[in-house]
Amino acid sequence: MPHRDRVLMGPGPGNPYPEVIEAFSRPVLGHLDPDFIALLDETNERLRAVWRTQNRLTFPVSGTGSAGMEAAFVNVVAPGDVVVVGVNGVFGERMCDVAERCGAQVIRVEAPWGQPLDAQQLLDAHPAPAIIAVVHAETSTGVRNDIAPLAARPVGTLLLVDCVTSLGGIPVEIDDWSVDIAYSGTQKCLGVPPGLAPLTLSERAVESIVERPQSWYLDLNMIARYVTGEGARAYHHTAPITMIYGLHAGLGALLAEGLEASWARHAECGAALHAGLEARGFRLFAADGHRLPELTTVWLPDDLPAGLDDATIRGRLLDRYGIEIGGGLGEFAGRVWRIGLMGHTARPRNVTLLLGALDELLDR
Ligand SMILES: *Cc1c(COP(=O)(O)O)cnc(C)c1O
Repeated sequence: MPHRDRVLMGPGPGNPYPEVIEAFSRPVLGHLDPDFIALLDETNERLRAVWRTQNRLTFPVSGTGSAGMEAAFVNVVAPGDVVVVGVNGVFGERMCDVAERCGAQVIRVEAPWGQPLDAQQLLDAHPAPAIIAVVHAETSTGVRNDIAPLAARPVGTLLLVDCVTSLGGIPVEIDDWSVDIAYSGTQKCLGVPPGLAPLTLSERAVESIVERPQSWYLDLNMIARYVTGEGARAYHHTAPITMIYGLHAGLGALLAEGLEASWARHAECGAALHAGLEARGFRLFAADGHRLPELTTVWLPDDLPAGLDDATIRGRLLDRYGIEIGGGLGEFAGRVWRIGLMGHTARPRNVTLLLGALDELLDR
C-alpha cells in the first residue's frame, strides 16, 4: 500500500485538505514581502472567523500545538501565580507541567480518565486564581470538557483553554464563552499538517502579559509587533512561510464549506462510527454525552480471535488497508483504541472503510 494512500485515523494528524497540499508548492516569499504580509493578515482574519472572536492578537505560533500551550502559559504566568488546572488525561497533565515550569502554584482538579471535568469543582478550587486552565477536547480519552460554565469565574481570573483537537471539529466560541487565551494545532481538525499553533488572546489577556516572559522565542511582546502590524513590522523570527500558505489554504477550505457544516460533518461521522462500533459489540470508553465525534475511544473486545492483539490488528489495518488508528495511552495502552475523524479525514467513506476492515480482520 503506497504511503500516499494512507487514511490517517489516529489521534492526529488527520489527512490534509487537497487545497493545502497544493498551497505547499507555491513559490516561497520573504517574510517581510508585502504579498506575504497580506497573506498573513488574511490568515489571521480567517483564524478570527474560525475561533469566533474579534481578538486583535490572533495568529499562528511557529511550532506545533505544544508550542501554543507553552506560549499561552509563559506569557501570562508570573512566579507564584495560582493556576487551577483541570486534569482528566495526558494533555491536562502537560498543562500542569508547563505551568509549574513557569513558576505557577498549580492546583489540580481531577476527573477519572474517560469522565468529563466538573466545572463547579474548577470554580470552587480557589477564590481568586490568576488562571483556570482546561483542555476542551482531551485527545488521550476522547472526552469533551464543558467550557461555557467557566464564564462564571471571578473577575480577574483568566480562562485558558486548549483547543488543539476541538477547533474546526466541534463548536468553539471564544468570545461567547469569554475565553481569554486559547491555542490549537494545525494537524487535528483544521486539516493542515503539523507545524503551527493558532493562538488567540483577549484584551484582558494582552494586558496580563508579563514584561519579560521566560521564553525569548515565544515572547508575545515582540511577536505582536510582527503579526498585528501595529507599529513597524519588525523581524523577530522568520515566519514559516510555507506552513502559513498551508494554513491559509486549509482555513479557506474550512470556511468555504462553512464552520457549522464542518461541525455537522464531524458530528455525523462520529455518530456513525460510535453506532457502528456499538452494533459490533464494542464498548465506547468516553462518558456518554461528552464523547468527541473527532476522536473516538473504544475498548478492545475481550473475545478477540486467536492470535490477534492490539498491535497485530493495528499493524494489519495499516498494512492491508492503509488505515492508521491510535493505541491507548498510560494504563489503557493495549486495551483501548483511539480513532480519529479529523478535518479532511472526517468522511462517511472512511467510517465505512474502517468498519468493513474491522469486520474482515475480526471475522464479525
Ligand atoms: C495534539 C495535542 C496537543 C499537542 O500538540 P502537538 O502538535 O503534538 O505539539 C496538545 N493538546 C491536545 C489536546 C492535543 O490533542
